[in-house]
Parts: sequence; C-alpha cells; structure tokens
Amino acid sequence: MIAVLKQGTTPSQMEQLVAWLKAMNLDVHISEGQHVTVLGLIGDTSRVDMDLLKSLDMVESVKRVSEPFKQANRKFHPNDTIIHVGDVRIGGGYFAMIAGPCSVESEDQIIEVAQAVKASGAQILRGGAFKPRTSPYAFQGMKGAGIDLLLKAKKATGLPIVTEIMNISTLDLFADVDIIQVGARNMQNFDLLKELGRTKTPILLKRGLANTLQELLMSAEYIMSEGNENVILCERGIRTFETYTRNTLDISAVTALHNLSHLPVVVDPSHATGKSSMVMPMALAATAAGADGIMIEVHNNPSCALCDGPQSLTPHQYDEVCHRIRKIREAIV
Ligand code: PEP
Ligand code: MN
Repeated sequence: MIAVLKQGTTPSQMEQLVAWLKAMNLDVHISEGQHVTVLGLIGDTSRVDMDLLKSLDMVESVKRVSEPFKQANRKFHPNDTIIHVGDVRIGGGYFAMIAGPCSVESEDQIIEVAQAVKASGAQILRGGAFKPRTSPYAFQGMKGAGIDLLLKAKKATGLPIVTEIMNISTLDLFADVDIIQVGARNMQNFDLLKELGRTKTPILLKRGLANTLQELLMSAEYIMSEGNENVILCERGIRTFETYTRNTLDISAVTALHNLSHLPVVVDPSHATGKSSMVMPMALAATAAGADGIMIEVHNNPSCALCDGPQSLTPHQYDEVCHRIRKIREAIV
C-alpha cells in the first residue's frame, strides 16, 4: 500500500504518521521526491483502515499496490534511483559504459583491456573471476587470483570494477569490489540474493535465461528487502525458439522495467547475441530505447579468449561503439 502525502506536510506530522503506521507492525519506506512524498507500507496492510488513512489532513491519496514487488516498484518510489559507484552514477539520466573481458585471464590481459576501454570512454571495468560455465571441463575462471588482478587493474586505471559472485562462501573476496554481479544462472538463488541484501555493495542483477520481468523484479526485491537498495537490473537476452543468436535480446524490457520500477536498467548485448558482429547494432538500439548503461565484452585478442571469444569486441571495435553510443545519447537526451 502507498500513501501519497500532501505538499506542505511538516516533518513532525510525517513522523507522527510514520510512528502510527509502524505501531501496526508495518515497515514504512519514505520516498521524498521533488514534488511528492510517498510512504510505502510493507507488511500485513489488511489491518490498515484505508478510509481513515485517506481522511487524514496530510494524506493526498492511498492506493493498494497489487504487484508482489514493493520496494522495487515505481509506485513506491516515483523518482528514478541513481546508483553511485565511486564517482560514477547510473540511472536517472546518468548513463554508464561497462566493458571488459568475459574472464580475467592474466595481469597483462586485464590491464591492457582496462586501459583500452577507459581510453574509449568506459567508466566501469568488468571481468569474470568465478565463471558459471555450462561444461565442468571448461575454464572456470581464476577465482580469487582473478579478483586480485581486477583490483590491480582498478588501481592502474581508476576504473571501478564489477565481477560475478557464484557462491556466498566467497563473499569476503569481494570486499573491495565496487559492483557484485549476480549472473543469469543465479538470478533465483534466493539465499545468495538475501545475503547480498545484507551488504551495501551495489548489485548488478542479470535476468535469468527464462525468467519474466516480474521474476527479475522479485529477485531485486529479495535483495532490497534485506536492506540493500542498490540494485541495477540487467537485460542480457532470454531463451526463445530462435537459435541463430545465443539468446534473444528483449529490448522492450528496458521500457517495461522503467515503467514498473525505479531501478536503473543496463543492457548486455554481448551475451544477448553471442556474435561480435551484432553487438554494436544491439548496443545502439538499447541506448536508443533508454537503457541506463551498456555492458560489453571486450578482449585484446578475441580469437584466443578463454571464454566467449566469438561475442567479444576488440578494443578498436569497442572504441567505435562508444563513439556511436555517444551520438545516440546526444540525439535522445
Ligand atoms: C557474464 O556476464 O560473464 C555472464 C556469465 O553473463 P550471464 O550471467 O548473463 O550469462
Ligand atoms: Mn561472457
């Protein structure tokens, strides 16, 4: 349930109202926008007398929120959420370029790629240290050593880093990681989501291979319900009957998620297509659709990459993508 307060409500009136609602065992989330303050009520709201609440002087309107996601819901928080990652901001008009290899492979590789993508305009470095591979015989990532190398690349370039966690038992290794990624395969690992919800680190939550947008938002809700509101949603393609592309990029997810939620939406055209030749057009389309950021796999030598070489761009190709994305941004903003 949400209660929209009238303009001019004083802080002490609001405090009294919040105390009254909390006494009914409800959690109250206050979203103070420029023009409107919204109280989001979570818990057993069946006990709230809606007519009484509506009749209060300071209350403009009261509505039940029918969707099962509450804290991720735009009705709870009408303004876009802006996630701060060091000096970088994502959402609410701030656009982030995220780039780097699928996997960290060596110190030279990650530093070379980090420097190149930074020079092209990337603001955040990606790189997998723990890799969820379909085959147990495939390269599984450098694990802790990979995170150490990402931290070296961060030191060398100043770029904040994003890397994937697969198991909560490794959380200590992520202490200096700027954004923790939850990959598509773990989108509904609810225990993992709850644990990450107890941290303050921004979470890049990727849509599962066969998950609806509501399911994605419910996974965001798992993180937020534990106290971590720094969630970035990521559309990375879904499984359909089409086999030409690795997945099918759901561009409409950008608009749909923006309608449903205040959280920023990043698009990953690399995993969505699986083909380097398709990454640029899909990155441009996603930018034009209003994505808050684009995450692209870049490798200094894609043909020798230990993971996802066929969808990886060279630094030179990435430079061109950045150039064109800037043009699209100029055209739409
Ligand atoms: C990745 O970003 O490296 C990755 C494994 O992506 P996804 O979880 O979307 O497959
Ligand atoms: Mn990959």
